[in-house]
Amino acid sequence: MTTVATRRPPVRRASLVGTGASAAVVRRYQRYVIPTYRRDELVIARGRGSYVWDPEGRRYLDFFPGWGVGGLGHCHPAVTAALNRQARRLVHVANNYYHEQQALLAEQLIKRSFPGKVFFANSGAEVVEAAIKLARRFGHPQRHEIIAMTHSFHGRTMGAVAATGQPKYHQGFQPLVPGFRHVPFNNLDAVRSVLSERTVAILVEPIQGEGGVHVATPEFLKGLRTICNARNLVLIFDEVQTGMGRTGTLFAFQQSGVVPDVMTLAKSLGNGLSIGALVAGERFADVLQPGTHASTFGGGAVVCASALAVLDVIQREHLVNRAARMGRYLQQRLERLAARYPALIREVRGRGLMVGMELSTGGAEIVKACRRRGLLINCTQETVLRMLPALIVTEREIDRAVTILDEVLASWSISSR
Ligand code: PLP
Repeated sequence: MTTVATRRPPVRRASLVGTGASAAVVRRYQRYVIPTYRRDELVIARGRGSYVWDPEGRRYLDFFPGWGVGGLGHCHPAVTAALNRQARRLVHVANNYYHEQQALLAEQLIKRSFPGKVFFANSGAEVVEAAIKLARRFGHPQRHEIIAMTHSFHGRTMGAVAATGQPKYHQGFQPLVPGFRHVPFNNLDAVRSVLSERTVAILVEPIQGEGGVHVATPEFLKGLRTICNARNLVLIFDEVQTGMGRTGTLFAFQQSGVVPDVMTLAKSLGNGLSIGALVAGERFADVLQPGTHASTFGGGAVVCASALAVLDVIQREHLVNRAARMGRYLQQRLERLAARYPALIREVRGRGLMVGMELSTGGAEIVKACRRRGLLINCTQETVLRMLPALIVTEREIDRAVTILDEVLASWSISSR
């Protein structure tokens, strides 16, 4: 029988305690930055493509760039050029005026998704909030309840936290915004069981990311569409993490054949610049009227120019197909690892370049060991190693990442054959 131990691999440990440039940065964080994050022991000084470097010049292969923000990798030259060009002309215009970049970006998003209109904000949580407000406004005053999923993740603002179906994110912030009903993911009967005359919307991630990389079945999404059609509910897909080509189609909904009424986008839309977009289908596009919602920074000229460049690069460099191809390659390589370490790896799952590998042991130490060997990945839900490499990732980079994982897992598993 094969047993699993949590022995640390024999690798060099680069400590940040000391006098180097990294240590100075960490000391300032400790002194001046509110500690809302558990940070890894790594200071990043620059990035390029799939790589980042620390101030001491060590290079890391980044398979989790910016929690999924770096769809085109770090400092993509076309995005850098676009934002530089725009920054010389006009950086930001408040939303009581018009500017060309916001108009062009809204047009491009609509042409690539479904007919409707766009609201711009600055982050994922903000566009989830906008979606909640749109649904509330649509149902007002009779209907306000939103059905969301357990293990979902929608962000850290109060509405988004209440929508998030994980009690650990609620802890200490009660009373929560009322009106959310949580039901198990991929379970239509559970959804039907909480429908009432108060229900106004259903909110779902096509693939739960933070929740452990769980893919919604097409039947589930189709069933939600049918329920929403029958009861005049707003079907909201949170594509903050799945959007912009990551899963092998520009938007994940395009794989299911189910078109949502409302879609939220953020993360890699600006490839590092803060932008969120709420796409509302034609029937819902005019629910939010002047005075009902706003964002001072939303849809500024530089961020919109960056997002336009992102869309252009995705199209010109065929990155959606590439994500599908490289995603298959990554998953195949990980499946082979799973076959080598059956006691350690339970399952490999995901779509395109949104990949999770469920372990039978805690993943946090494995993430640290990978980092010490020069690979950055994430662990979510304690046991799921999550990888969201840039869409420009190469086979060689995938090979390198899998080799590092292999080395780390080898030192973790002690066989008693
Ligand atoms: N929605 C989903 C599906 C997410 O994955 C996230 C962040 O991970 C959010 C919303 C919140 O986005 P942000 O951190 O930009 O507020």
